[in-house]
Amino acid sequence: MIDKRSSRRDFIRTAAAGASAALFPLPGLAQNAGGRVVVVGGGFAGATCARALKRLDPRINVTLVEASSTFTACPFSNDVIAVQRDIAAQRFDYKKVAADGVTMAFGTASGADPQARTVTLADGTRISYDRLVLAPAVDIRWDALPGYTESAAEIMPHAWKAGEQTLLLRRQLEAMVDGGLVVISAPANPYRCPPGPYERASLIAYYLKIKKPRSKVLVLDAKDAFSKQRLFQDAWKELYGDRIEWVSLSNGGKVTSVEPATKTFVTDFDRHTAAIGNVIPPQKAARIAEVAGVTDRTGWCPVDPVTFESKQQANIHVIGDAAIMGAMPKSAFSANSQAKVCAAALAKLLAGQKPEEPRPINTCYSLVAPDYGISVAAVYRPKDGILVEVENAGGVSPLNAPQSVREQEAKFADGWFNTITAEVFG
Ligand SMILES: Cc1cc2nc3c(=O)[nH]c(=O)nc-3n(C[C@H](O)[C@H](O)[C@H](O)COP(=O)(O)OP(=O)(O)OC[C@H]3O[C@@H](n4cnc5c(N)ncnc54)[C@H](O)[C@@H]3O)c2cc1C
Repeated sequence: MIDKRSSRRDFIRTAAAGASAALFPLPGLAQNAGGRVVVVGGGFAGATCARALKRLDPRINVTLVEASSTFTACPFSNDVIAVQRDIAAQRFDYKKVAADGVTMAFGTASGADPQARTVTLADGTRISYDRLVLAPAVDIRWDALPGYTESAAEIMPHAWKAGEQTLLLRRQLEAMVDGGLVVISAPANPYRCPPGPYERASLIAYYLKIKKPRSKVLVLDAKDAFSKQRLFQDAWKELYGDRIEWVSLSNGGKVTSVEPATKTFVTDFDRHTAAIGNVIPPQKAARIAEVAGVTDRTGWCPVDPVTFESKQQANIHVIGDAAIMGAMPKSAFSANSQAKVCAAALAKLLAGQKPEEPRPINTCYSLVAPDYGISVAAVYRPKDGILVEVENAGGVSPLNAPQSVREQEAKFADGWFNTITAEVFG
């Protein structure tokens, strides 16, 4: 599967050393009897898919291409920003993924040739596939918000990809003098983690309430409504009084440009100068999706709702944040659920069988405070070429619930993170 002409053959770290014998093809079977699948992106979608596929049919030759040898998870990264959690709790490696028989290829996929069915890594390594799964998540649209460049993000962090940006925003918060204004700008839909900006505003307000009680949070929004809005706003009033102010699109919340030198957010009617400016910018499917020709004019990837095969390129499947999944939001829970559906479909397709109609699910937990959780859950089904919500199969946390319910949901959120990361990386 991997081109032997590669300039750096030692680039590929195989699973052989730590793998369980039971996961390898039985003696006598041809090496590629199950087919060759390359997965690009070892996050919640890609790593789940690679592992699930290998477990479903150990004969399938699965290669996972991942840019970094350490994965840093976004869920719970708002806790890291609010000084409630250490970044180390967000970090995972790929040893167990490799131990399942998945071939790890650490490097950035920079090219894809749908005709030749090959993926090329930045160092020139070429890998052939029968089916390709793209799970590279999102890139920032650096051309979408005037003034917001990669160097501006060093002053006004987005912290929408966990890691250094998360730590930068946390350091700024810790260093801010009491009385400073934290401004968060939230983008229009779609973007990764719809409730994420509001969870962040909440947890920053929690930190400020304890450490910098004269400081406030201003959320400037390019939308008029947001996920779990009533639950968030009721909790803000209850926990933080007027410490969080939300300005909707209709009230002039849409940020039209930023001025990093003064940390200023410009809207149609106003200018807001911040002590800390957190720009959550517009996003699109990550670059490799564009290169592979699976993005449409929106910048995202339309897919078949049964197999998640691209509507634009045969034999390429897209899962996770990069894909347009109809009503399904861009979340780690969704990505993990889609990955298992995709793995099951791939195993069937490679065996010449028809994939079954899936019912992927999602639950998004948000913390309004470390001991105050809320959630929204839904089940989805294919209809008219997209995924739609199954009626009466989900729901949101109740309004006006006692604190004990909120505490329990905060514990569920914690349990969910531990379970999903154990499943994907453990
Ligand atoms: C602040 C914040 C809080 C969040 N909280 C939650 C939450 O509580 N619950 C929830 O369900 N979701 C949450 N999310 C959303 C969640 O993080 C994403 O939806 C999820 O990570 C998507 O999974 P993915 O596999 O598509 O992408 P990722 O998990 O980001 O993985 C993508 C991987 O692809 C790799 N990659 C990209 N391009 C290439 C390339 N060319 N070559 C090789 N590798 C490549 C990257 O290195 C990365 O490892 C949150 C997001 C943010 C920003």
